[in-house]
Amino acid sequence: MNIERVAVVGAGTMGNGIAHVCALAGLQVVLVDTDAAALDRGVATIGRNLERQRARGRIDAGAVAGALGRIEPAPGLEHVGQAGLVVEAVPEVAALKYEIFAELDRMAPPGAILASNTSSISITAIAARTSRPGRVVGMHFMNPVPVMKLVEVVRGLRTEDATGETVVEFALALGKTPVEVRDFPGFVSNRILAPMINEAVFALMEGVAEAEAIDAVMTLGMKHPMGPLALADLIGLDTCLNILEVLHRELGDDRYRPCPLLRQYVAAGWLGRKTGRGFHAYDRGRRPC
Ligand code: NAD
Repeated sequence: MNIERVAVVGAGTMGNGIAHVCALAGLQVVLVDTDAAALDRGVATIGRNLERQRARGRIDAGAVAGALGRIEPAPGLEHVGQAGLVVEAVPEVAALKYEIFAELDRMAPPGAILASNTSSISITAIAARTSRPGRVVGMHFMNPVPVMKLVEVVRGLRTEDATGETVVEFALALGKTPVEVRDFPGFVSNRILAPMINEAVFALMEGVAEAEAIDAVMTLGMKHPMGPLALADLIGLDTCLNILEVLHRELGDDRYRPCPLLRQYVAAGWLGRKTGRGFHAYDRGRRPC
């Protein structure tokens, strides 16, 4: 494996975390976002999170400055340049991902691997939008990326073995633990997690309990580190809804139908931590309040 330059497309919740861990591992990173304000926020978040790691004694000041110095913010895909690996982390909307992969195929070097951080969308279908389906793969990082060890590695039907092996090695080099899974809607993580979150929202809608009580049952009773509604707020309620739509449509089973209350929150713009309100309320530093 010889990947020294990485491009990350999308500087939101996941993209800034992926750029963070790549830069900390010594790689040159181009961080692309078409929304200038989102790009600024993404870079500021990386700075804040690196600083938090320093304050906890996990890294030193040199590592913070080094990582920040290796990140180059960029406004469009034409800047992916000489990246050996591109990791896409734009919103969970199939049509958008198809468009971006077709464009990345034209912009990235012919040998580059194109990875998607999609939570649920078919890697096989994304790969079919390119002329290099053998070099397209899923790299599903978990939120928050600097903290969580897992990377679900998803091979599409036409992904070459060498591509899968390269991204497994790459994930290990970032200090992550790759787990290989097959290309089915939601893979393993969201096939199991998304219905649990959806059921928690149904329980809230039906008045089984208040949000705090639902989360308390799952943290205190099931030893989950955070309750399903607080986790939905962390993921982003728009992302949760998009994932459930994919599961519902692709598996054709009504047990994945998104809860109407989830749709209503998304319609209201209550998307969770990133907007300050979801099932719980958050202050400007995105802490519960
Ligand atoms: P987000 O909404 O926080 O960020 C998406 C970013 O993409 C935004 O900054 C937006 O400006 C940018 N963007 C939109 N169109 C673009 C384009 N054409 N070119 C470049 N940038 C563009 O979303 P997120 O939560 O970071 O999710 C990104 C992906 O990661 C999704 O596929 C999601 O399913 C997946 N994912 C999310 C989580 C999570 O907990 N949020 C966890 C694992 C995987």
